[in-house]
Amino acid sequence: VTSRVTQPTNSTSLDNIKNIILVSSGKGGVGKSTVSSNLAVVLAKDGAKVGLIDADIYGPSVPTMFDLVDAKPGAEETADGKTKILPIEKYGIKLLSLGFFADPGQPVPWRGPMASNAVKQLFNDTNWGELDYLIVDLPPGTGDIHITITQSFPISGAVVVTTPQQVALADTHKGLAMFRMPGINIPILGVIENMSYFTPEELPENKYYIFGKGGGTKLAERFDVPFLGEIPIVQGIAEAGDNGKPVALNQNPLLDGIFGDIASKIA
Ligand code: ADP
Repeated sequence: VTSRVTQPTNSTSLDNIKNIILVSSGKGGVGKSTVSSNLAVVLAKDGAKVGLIDADIYGPSVPTMFDLVDAKPGAEETADGKTKILPIEKYGIKLLSLGFFADPGQPVPWRGPMASNAVKQLFNDTNWGELDYLIVDLPPGTGDIHITITQSFPISGAVVVTTPQQVALADTHKGLAMFRMPGINIPILGVIENMSYFTPEELPENKYYIFGKGGGTKLAERFDVPFLGEIPIVQGIAEAGDNGKPVALNQNPLLDGIFGDIASKIA
């Protein structure tokens, strides 16, 4: 990302953030939060100042993926008497999730405007300080939250996560088209294909394309956007997510290369 697109914002809280990058997907369960978390980790490991907003109203995953299920963010008064949320810092990343403001295990029946306001607060009413990257884990699909975020904040670009199955690719197509809509018009940084093939971690040269091959590449070609990479199905990714330590925190020769390569293409 070389420059950010200037769009209207009434806030000064975001002035010290160099790049706001959206991570989106057409469907749930394709690995959008896994990609968001690991990209944040890789960028932070590389020395960047990184924040991560989990704006997935349907199933916020950041509390689980960062072992912060019972965490509650603090707040501070500013000199002009406003209250600002303080993100929680873990593994060198500043984090906020809608999940921090709900009771774990309880459904949150957000109405559209309520959810949009809550998400806006994660941007505007938060002391993010200086950041090189603010990664935003969007809800799946195309909805109110996407419109709110793309129209309210200066977004640098969006990456789109898909799996190789036809059902996922069809929904990803809609997601890509949304970013091109007049009034939204967000630069698409590229397509990431997750769960591209299965590989046993100890035999990484054995690749089984169990969901079909080449779908993500074709989609990227159709929209004339970069294809950012294939992430294999690896047991360690799922285990690390469940254990609250994104896999990119570990030394993993296979995955370090893959996530590092994707991060370098969007940074
Ligand atoms: P989304 O944010 O799109 O709903 P998640 O990132 O929460 O999807 O991933 C859904 C589940 O799949 C999680 O349990 C996650 O750990 C697992 N997962 C995601 N990507 C992979 C992968 N490449 N290999 C193994 N498990 C994965």
